Amino acid sequence: MADQQSMKFLEDLTNCFGPSGFEREPARIVRGYVARYSDQVYSDRLGSLMFRKKGSSDSPVVLVPGHIDEVGFIVSSVNKLGFLTFNTLGGWFDQVLLGQRVLVRTSKGTISGVIAAKPPHLLPADERKKVVEKNKMFIDIGASNEEEARAMGVRVGNPVIPESSFSVMKKTVFKEGKRKGSDTIAIGKAFDDRIGAWVAAEVIRTLSEKKIKHPNTVIGAATTQEEVGLRGARTTAFVVKPDVCLTLEVDIAGDVPGIEPHEAASKMGYGPTITTWDSSMIPNQGLVDLVIGTAEKNKIPYQLSQVSGGTDAGIIHMSNAGCPSVVIGVPTRHIHSHVGLLSMADAENCIRLILEVVKRLDKKTVAGLTEI
Ligand SMILES: [Zn+2]
Repeated sequence: MADQQSMKFLEDLTNCFGPSGFEREPARIVRGYVARYSDQVYSDRLGSLMFRKKGSSDSPVVLVPGHIDEVGFIVSSVNKLGFLTFNTLGGWFDQVLLGQRVLVRTSKGTISGVIAAKPPHLLPADERKKVVEKNKMFIDIGASNEEEARAMGVRVGNPVIPESSFSVMKKTVFKEGKRKGSDTIAIGKAFDDRIGAWVAAEVIRTLSEKKIKHPNTVIGAATTQEEVGLRGARTTAFVVKPDVCLTLEVDIAGDVPGIEPHEAASKMGYGPTITTWDSSMIPNQGLVDLVIGTAEKNKIPYQLSQVSGGTDAGIIHMSNAGCPSVVIGVPTRHIHSHVGLLSMADAENCIRLILEVVKRLDKKTVAGLTEI
């Protein structure tokens, strides 16, 4: 169960400032947490952090990465009226932007702003029915001209994130009409994919605290720049040279109105997901079977899913001479917006599943994954 210390870590990690290319803050938070549980903590030169826990053997090397960048924005101009235009860092749906608070990091500190556009009252009737596109929006920081905005420290290239703070809520769980205990729902930004980095850190912590025997060396990683094209995964794989990879990600929870099961099959609260296909990778089939078998043997709930997007594993599985990889996800509602929701039971079951799989990844098993 996630204790107070790990919940505080999740809160700090998701609240902190770190869009793609600006991940120093989340990297430092992860380092501060994992240092005492790792044999070694180090980084590459693109900002990704690795934390190593040696078991009874140097090899196989098991990489367990989660990316720490979050979707955000970058200031593209400061106009004469004191408003900021922006480009996106990662994918944003125009419809979730208007009226939202953001934080702009400037040379003089962090300031608040709101994303706005020409008000509907002033639009012709037919325009009002259309989605306002990002390029018609601006960030209002309360300035009335360019000089005021400049005096606040704003310049082109400043990073921007959604303003949103972490909270939790307890609920009683019902399944098929029956009471099934309780769950804690985490609400906040940046679960994509700081929940993955959180799981990786908790795996290393548990291996260390419970002195769990494992026939390999596990390297947890907090990777950078995933949302802009899996860039940190490339340098991480170069440094780590993994023999096998269990990539941690969010999965798109499909249990919200309007989504058909064939579009997104996973549900919040029904266990971690094992991705059987995404647009960046077909997972190693032996590894998928091993993860499914491990979940069933240990009675860990799991869901099979397919996602039409890419993950760090898309790059890592092609690194070196190839690296058998699979993606394990925590189903999360409303990703790539200001606020997502996930089940802590799913996150905890994800830790359990990774730990059980890690125990089984010895030299022979890993070599067998790529035998022809
Ligand atoms: Zn992600």
